[in-house]
Amino acid sequence: MKVHHLRCGTDCPVGGALFDGFSKGLLGFIPCAAQLIETRNGLVLIDTGYGTEDVRHPHPRLSVAFRLMLNIRFRMHETALHHVKALGYSARDVRHVVLTHLDFDHAGGLEDFPDARVHVMEVERDAAERKRRGFVAKRRYRPAQWDNVRDWRTYGNSSGEKWFGFDAVRSLDGLPPEILMVPLPGHTLGHAGVAIDTGCGWLLNAGDAYFYRRELDSDRRRCTPGLRFYQRLIDTDREQRFANQERLRELKRAHGQEITIFCSHDGKELEAMQHGHARPQQDRGSRAKSMVEARV
Ligand SMILES: [Zn+2]
Repeated sequence: MKVHHLRCGTDCPVGGALFDGFSKGLLGFIPCAAQLIETRNGLVLIDTGYGTEDVRHPHPRLSVAFRLMLNIRFRMHETALHHVKALGYSARDVRHVVLTHLDFDHAGGLEDFPDARVHVMEVERDAAERKRRGFVAKRRYRPAQWDNVRDWRTYGNSSGEKWFGFDAVRSLDGLPPEILMVPLPGHTLGHAGVAIDTGCGWLLNAGDAYFYRRELDSDRRRCTPGLRFYQRLIDTDREQRFANQERLRELKRAHGQEITIFCSHDGKELEAMQHGHARPQQDRGSRAKSMVEARV
């Protein structure tokens, strides 16, 4: 299976390296990663980033608070739809969208693929529909992004099989068995990673289970203060988030040769995936890195 690593949106928060660990200016670089997979049965999109409607009408589709905090750059040429067309396909060729969760920076492009079947954990959809109380919950889930979805498929936690020690949902309805969801709750209640068997190794999109590449280091794990603050601000179950990060560290430690793990918002990781490197390159010459990272 061919996997394209896309950037479907960019956040540029004030704080630069305090967020991303490498920017030299005032603004940081936080991409919204998505993957487009070419399968025998059509295209599968993992997450959608910001969509064309977000670009056209950021207000009122997205909350003012998150737009200001993240300094979101809305660009038509970064939307998943634009990437799909640039690869010579049409929106209708995208038959399935698998979502790590329903946050505004992952579900924004759903309307651009109205014929797609949308796969998400049942708990996540319930939370997005029914539990929008509190400052963050009200602002993170934006029904306008997903209330036109016609073909939902939701999955319970109990239907799992084992995948490298994790409970995983296989047999996603209509999807090839090489694509499976791996529940990783914490950031949101129904947050999940997506594992892909490429035929030459596994990929694990860990979504927002972690935000910074060095959070998965076995020893001396580190995070920037900006991303540590942001993750704490919006996590739903901190205990589960930390527990799942630890499980991911263990997975990387034990199976790092077989599985490439990456998250949704690390610029260096995305760059490495786009260039076919399994590991992010070291930020050579970036003094900012050592100045802003802190042990976690
Ligand atoms: Zn996110």
